[in-house]
Amino acid sequence: MEGAELVREAFRDAFRGEPELISRAPGRVNLIGEHTDYNQGFVLPVAIDRAVWVAIRGRGDGRARVYSANFGQWTEFDVDSPRKDPSVPWADYPKGVVSELVSSGHRLGGFDMAIWGDVPLGAGLSSSAAIEVAVAFGLVSLFGIALDRTDIALLCQRAEHRFVGVHCGIMDQFVASLGRKGRALFLDCRDLNYEYVPLSDDVSVVVCDSGVKRELASSAYNERRAQCEEAVRRLREVLPEIGALRDVPREEFEAYKYLLPETIGRRARHVVYENMRVLSSVKLLRRGDLEGFGRLMYESHRSLKEDYEVSGPELDLLVDLASSVEGTLGARLTGAGFGGCTVNLVERKAVRTFEEFVGREYEARTGIRLEVYVCEASDGARLEEGI
Ligand code: ADP
Ligand code: MG
Repeated sequence: MEGAELVREAFRDAFRGEPELISRAPGRVNLIGEHTDYNQGFVLPVAIDRAVWVAIRGRGDGRARVYSANFGQWTEFDVDSPRKDPSVPWADYPKGVVSELVSSGHRLGGFDMAIWGDVPLGAGLSSSAAIEVAVAFGLVSLFGIALDRTDIALLCQRAEHRFVGVHCGIMDQFVASLGRKGRALFLDCRDLNYEYVPLSDDVSVVVCDSGVKRELASSAYNERRAQCEEAVRRLREVLPEIGALRDVPREEFEAYKYLLPETIGRRARHVVYENMRVLSSVKLLRRGDLEGFGRLMYESHRSLKEDYEVSGPELDLLVDLASSVEGTLGARLTGAGFGGCTVNLVERKAVRTFEEFVGREYEARTGIRLEVYVCEASDGARLEEGI
C-alpha cells in the first residue's frame, strides 16, 4: 500500500480532505517480440511491480485540478476543453485521457486529482501508459462510465496519439490495463486477442537501463517501419494475400527472400523470425522450459543487432555481461533500441550477484552508472482497497 499512502498524502496536502478513490496502473517490460507490433505481429510483455497511483475526488463545477507529486506542480482546466500548456508538459497525459473520454461522448464531472508514481520517467518502462491508464481507470470508476479494460487501453492509446502527439503501439496501454500477477501477456497486435502465460516464481525479470539516450531511435524507427512496408510491397508480387509481415510464414520468406534487396531482406527476416520466437516462447513457458525461453531471448537480441541493426555497444555489452553470470537464462535489448534498456531473465537466487557483477563491470567499462530494476510480473490497473 506504500504508493497508495503516498498519493493519499499528496492529495491531502494539495486539496485538503480525503480522495473518494485511488486507482493504480503499472509500468511494463516486453519479454520478447520487438519491432513486431507495427507489423501486426505478436508481443509478450509483463506488467511490473512499479506503478502510477491516482487519488481522485469529484467536484461540482466542471473544473479539473491535477497535482503531480513527482513534479511538485499542479494545473487546472475545464473538463470539457483541456488544452496543452507547455509549462506543464506532464499534464498532457491526464488531459489527453479527459479529452478522449469527453470526445467519445462520456459525461465527466469536475474533479481534484493527485498523482504519484515509482515507474522511472522516460526510462523505457512506460510510465506514460501507467499514468494514462491509472487516470482513465480512476475517472471511469468515479463517474460510472461503462468501459472495459480493452476499451480503456484503446482510449489511452488515442490520448497518446492525439493529445500528447506520440504515435505509440497498443502494447503498453494494453498490458498496463490487463496485466496479471505471475503471468506474461501474449498479445496479438492485429486483433488484440490475448492469453496469459505463466512465468515461474523462480525467476525475476531484471531491467538494466544503459543510461544511453535513445537519440537515433525516432529517425531509425521511422526508417525501419518504411523498410518493413517495402518488404510487404515487394513480397505481394508473389504473395498477394499478405497484409503485413506478420502474414509471412518462415518457409515462404525463405522461398521468396531473393525478391528483396539485401538490407530490406534482413529487416524482414528479423520480423518474420521474431514473430516465430514469440509463438515458440509461449509454448516453452507453458511447459516451464525457462532455459529454452532464455535462449530465444538471446536469439532475439542477436537478430535485433545483426538484422534489424537497432542495438549499440552499450546494449551489447550489457547482454554480454549478463550472459556471463551463472543463473542468467536470457538477455536482450528491449524497446526501440539505440540505448534504453535490456531485459534479463535471472534465477531469483542469482539476482544479487547479477546486480553486483553487471553494475560493476558496466561502470568500469563505460563510466556510466547502471540503473537496475528487479521486477515481478504484476496485476494491471485496479482500485486500491480499503479507501
Ligand atoms: P516512458 O513512457 O518510457 O516512461 P515517456 O517519455 O513516454 O517515457 O513518458 C514519460 C512522461 O510521462 C513524463 O515525462 C511525464 O510527462 C509523464 N509521467 C509519467 N509518470 C508521471 C507522474 N507520476 N506524474 C506526472 N507525469 C508523469
Ligand atoms: Mg512512453
